Amino acid sequence: MLIVHDENKNLINLLEIEISQLKGKFFCPACHSEVRLKNGNIKIPHFSHISLKECHSWSENESAQHLGLKLALYKWFARTEKVKIEHYLPELEQTPDLLVNEKIAIEVQCSHLSIKRLWERTENYRKHGYQVIWLMGHDLWIKKSLTQLQKNLMYFSKNRGFYFWECDLAQEKIRLKSLLHENLRGHVIFHLEEFNFFQGNLLEILRLPFLSQKLLSIPVTRDKNLSHYIRQQLFHRNPKWLKLQEKYYQNGQNLLSVSFERPTYAPVGLHLLENIFDSSVKKNFCQISQDLTNYYQNYWENWQKKSAQKVYPPAFYDKIINRLK
Ligand SMILES: [Zn+2]
Repeated sequence: MLIVHDENKNLINLLEIEISQLKGKFFCPACHSEVRLKNGNIKIPHFSHISLKECHSWSENESAQHLGLKLALYKWFARTEKVKIEHYLPELEQTPDLLVNEKIAIEVQCSHLSIKRLWERTENYRKHGYQVIWLMGHDLWIKKSLTQLQKNLMYFSKNRGFYFWECDLAQEKIRLKSLLHENLRGHVIFHLEEFNFFQGNLLEILRLPFLSQKLLSIPVTRDKNLSHYIRQQLFHRNPKWLKLQEKYYQNGQNLLSVSFERPTYAPVGLHLLENIFDSSVKKNFCQISQDLTNYYQNYWENWQKKSAQKVYPPAFYDKIINRLK
């Protein structure tokens, strides 16, 4: 942490004070327990709790990555916005990494956190009228498939579908992965954009998914070995595929006789072989409050009619389905 209290409850900001001027004891603004100055070679000078037991606001001591990203984004925002670093919000008992223009909380998430904790923190911001934007550090970057936690950190817009933010301290970049789709094997595809630190207005970059823009698309191809893959999953008794086969049997059908003539990518949460999306799907997406029903239905209708070679954002399917009606 960079902001602490001294013995007289004055705020001390490490970004604005010479280390040599620091005297006495220092305390966490949230839990009031004692913190200690760390001034080593690897991390920038910072404070850390002697004991984290009492603290609701800080769940762990910080990594060099977290400190570095927080500081870089703070400086980037400060060029154009009113931004506070580690500003403790007593009514929430939370300390967002950054607070932009008094109402946007920026959380740089570098380590795993439980989905329950993520929901609590997100709802707490929402309830008090703050918008929260989560930006993910190295360990939470999207790889081959999406984890439950990553799905709960995705956002949604009509122009970008599902999207996800990543921060890269080593390369000094922010990455936007949008138009996230999964195929029946659970592999993910996305449209990738990178923004160098300090180039452009950071708040505008974060709003990009909601601006009017050129139509995006991602080419997709047919998965020729999908039938073989499903056969293998059933043979190895993968519970997900067994459950689906069970449903098929109940309707007098067999998964193994389905032929896959077209690409099987679909928006996250829509399962093409089930024809319906799980009504509990809303609970899977902590950051998304929009209703996804139309998007899923339009995508599904279009998929059944056409062998599409590309996937598009939700706005595209809205338009073509309405045109057909
Ligand atoms: Zn504390």
